[in-house]
Amino acid sequence: MTKVTEFIHQAQGKTLFSIEIIPPLKGQNITELLDSIEPLMEFKPPFVDVTYHREELIDVKGQNGLIERIPIRKRPGTVGICARLMERFKVDAVPHVICGGFTKDETEDVLFDLHYLGIDNVLVLRGDPEKSAGVFKAKLGGHTYASELVVQVDKMNKGVLLHAETEAAHTNFCIGIAGYPEKHFDAESLDTDFEHLKRKIDLGANYIVTQMFFDNQKYFRFVDRCRAEGITVPIIPGLKPLATKRQLTVLADIFHLEFPQELVKEAEKCATDKEVRQLGVEWGVQQCKELIEYGVPVLHFYTMGKSDNVARIASQVF
Ligand code: FAD
Repeated sequence: MTKVTEFIHQAQGKTLFSIEIIPPLKGQNITELLDSIEPLMEFKPPFVDVTYHREELIDVKGQNGLIERIPIRKRPGTVGICARLMERFKVDAVPHVICGGFTKDETEDVLFDLHYLGIDNVLVLRGDPEKSAGVFKAKLGGHTYASELVVQVDKMNKGVLLHAETEAAHTNFCIGIAGYPEKHFDAESLDTDFEHLKRKIDLGANYIVTQMFFDNQKYFRFVDRCRAEGITVPIIPGLKPLATKRQLTVLADIFHLEFPQELVKEAEKCATDKEVRQLGVEWGVQQCKELIEYGVPVLHFYTMGKSDNVARIASQVF
């Protein structure tokens, strides 16, 4: 399989299109998810990211009638979905690999599954905190920061496993990591956040995908600061078209971002969410045109289960 950085290199400055999808809730039909992204294949994404979701603690009634708190993964299947994507659409799959909820040994096993499937790209992340805990806690024997997971993947690429004493067959993973134009919510300051970002690159990460943003100036400033810090890898902007008025608060709260006043003002004027969706497409088209002009390597869309608005934007900019 081709590495994300190779796709970018081969494109010779032309901006590529890519998407991120989320596994369906356990029990839902996988075909529906795959059918929903089929229209986006027209824009030839060389790769499709698939998120990974940690277990959540859920209260269930035990046999003795007492409530028990048990860990349940609500959105399993990342590795299987990657296999289906590659088979059905002939695209490269980029699974997300997270620290949260995994021991290092469990992570090593997942990385072998991916390697055996012929997958050569991973987006390495710390992962979201477990919902009921609120703050991130590593599993006993797991990683606390994405940088530690970068080291594990990089070592596997060099044939170094956790416990083996002799050199193992080398994996060939291209390592992506997350970056935050509006600062990660846990970071003490923008300065420390950049220090930690730079460390991930120094330890072996090959490219950055940003958190979503609605104001391109935030991305431009982020790239400028990265370059000033000596970070030279591709920085892929992550984009999500605004689709409902509620998202103005929900997305801002979940992802710790600020909407530009102009977009908020226009959204407030909309009488229905259909109008907001149309505004989101128009805003997205303007954002994308400016980002292409700037020379971004890829426009990476968070589909979040819906693809019609992404398709409408892509059809106007590609
Ligand atoms: P890290 O790089 O580990 O950073 C986390 C925080 O710790 C930052 O504030 C950083 O500044 C700080 N930090 C880092 N190293 C140190 C250190 N040594 N000492 C002190 N502080 C440090 N979540 C999922 O659960 N599944 C997904 O599939 C998923 N996909 C994502 C895709 C993208 C493109 C993005 C942007 C986010 C995604 N997330 C996903 C969310 C992500 O897991 C969370 O934002 C998480 O809180 C941070 O992950 P990270 O990899 O950036 O963490």
